Amino acid sequence: MGKRLEIAIAGAGIGGLALATLLARAGHRVRIFDQFETPKPIGSGLMLQQTGLAVLDQLGLRQEIDALGTRIERLWGLTTPSLRPVLDVRYAKWRSDIYGLGVQRGLLFDALYQAAKTADVDVVLDAPVIGAEPDAPALVLKSGERVSGIDLVVYAHGARSNLTPGNRGVDLPYGALWATLPWPENGPFDATALEQRYYKANRMTGVMPSGRLTPDAPETLTYFWSIRADREAIWRSRPLDHWKAKAVALWPETECLMDQFQSHSDLTFARYRHHTSTQPTAGRGFARIGDAWHAASPQLGQGANMALLDAWALAQALTATSDVSDALKSYVRMRRGHVRLYQIMTWMFTPVYQGDSRFLPWLRDWLAAPLSRIWPGPPLLAALVSGAIGSPLKRLALK
Ligand SMILES: Cc1cc2nc3c(=O)[nH]c(=O)nc-3n(C[C@H](O)[C@H](O)[C@H](O)COP(=O)(O)OP(=O)(O)OC[C@H]3O[C@@H](n4cnc5c(N)ncnc54)[C@H](O)[C@@H]3O)c2cc1C
Repeated sequence: MGKRLEIAIAGAGIGGLALATLLARAGHRVRIFDQFETPKPIGSGLMLQQTGLAVLDQLGLRQEIDALGTRIERLWGLTTPSLRPVLDVRYAKWRSDIYGLGVQRGLLFDALYQAAKTADVDVVLDAPVIGAEPDAPALVLKSGERVSGIDLVVYAHGARSNLTPGNRGVDLPYGALWATLPWPENGPFDATALEQRYYKANRMTGVMPSGRLTPDAPETLTYFWSIRADREAIWRSRPLDHWKAKAVALWPETECLMDQFQSHSDLTFARYRHHTSTQPTAGRGFARIGDAWHAASPQLGQGANMALLDAWALAQALTATSDVSDALKSYVRMRRGHVRLYQIMTWMFTPVYQGDSRFLPWLRDWLAAPLSRIWPGPPLLAALVSGAIGSPLKRLALK
């Protein structure tokens, strides 16, 4: 190992914890600051792709997560009322050894958090960060403390933070209500598929198998209902039964889940955001990873996987050279192309499935969907969803 670096990370989420663990294992001194008082994940179940799984493999966490997550072989969406297939992605159409893994966010978080603690990362709780000085480098906490004497500051604060200036990026018009529920035994859902139903693009609902939190815990699914952000308050003000009727009309099989929604608070709202920072690195020692660099709607299900790839790339760059400026340049070279590609594609795909346009869903149903079933559509779509377009694994020497 070269020089032992002092590193401060803002945000103990997926990217921050992965990076902290990799750097601490490489012998650096790592402190990670998060605003939460108790370590906990934020958000719904999520889908890991081969990209994120490859990084978890390097961290030694893949086996544990694979064992408790659910393998997803297909993304399958029908439009209503015609039940015409408009999304049909099968991983095996690209490669037989590839799959998505539906997991509860808590499973991924707990594994990463434990790995960080075991690697002697200093996790500082109840420590909101309010700024950084890229040239010092230093991190400024809300308490007034200035964390200095460090070589590298990393922003890993996610998509929604006071550290993302309000004028950068846009809040997307839609978000989703979601909930984690027990998997219904002998129920109507396919345990190997993420299933969705659409009406045009302004109504969408889905069920994703999301595995177990612990070996003894029950199997779960993540349920989601797309909703315009400006209609969330109206949804809350109306009786829940009014919404349940709409949800069941869109996908009758979800009726078996509805009894579990007793109040509005049984569903959590997440609004989506899109932004790509023009400055993934700055000054002598400052970098952004994950959503702090590039946030997007989860339409292509890449965000957590991208955060893990960023963490791996930055750790690799710092292993190759202990000159922080050189390492930062190399980090951006490794990741910029893949990030740009997926930011553009997610931006293009999102309104096709969540939006108010009448034309885009028409195009989707009558042109794009039939065309996507003709070669090379099926393997291309599978590679796209796997996060493989742009060959990020090859670039990062990951299997
Ligand atoms: C509903 C929904 C579904 C999704 N589904 C998927 C999916 O299927 N697959 C997928 O890959 N991705 C999915 N994503 C996206 C994914 O969750 C994010 O891309 C991923 O969590 C980003 O990781 P991160 O490390 O950048 O940030 P996060 O995991 O968001 O972590 C950020 C951390 O920073 C902390 N923080 C924030 N501000 C401060 C501050 N000022 N000071 C200190 N700490 C701070 C937060 O408390 C948090 O712990 C989904 C997102 C949503 C909302």
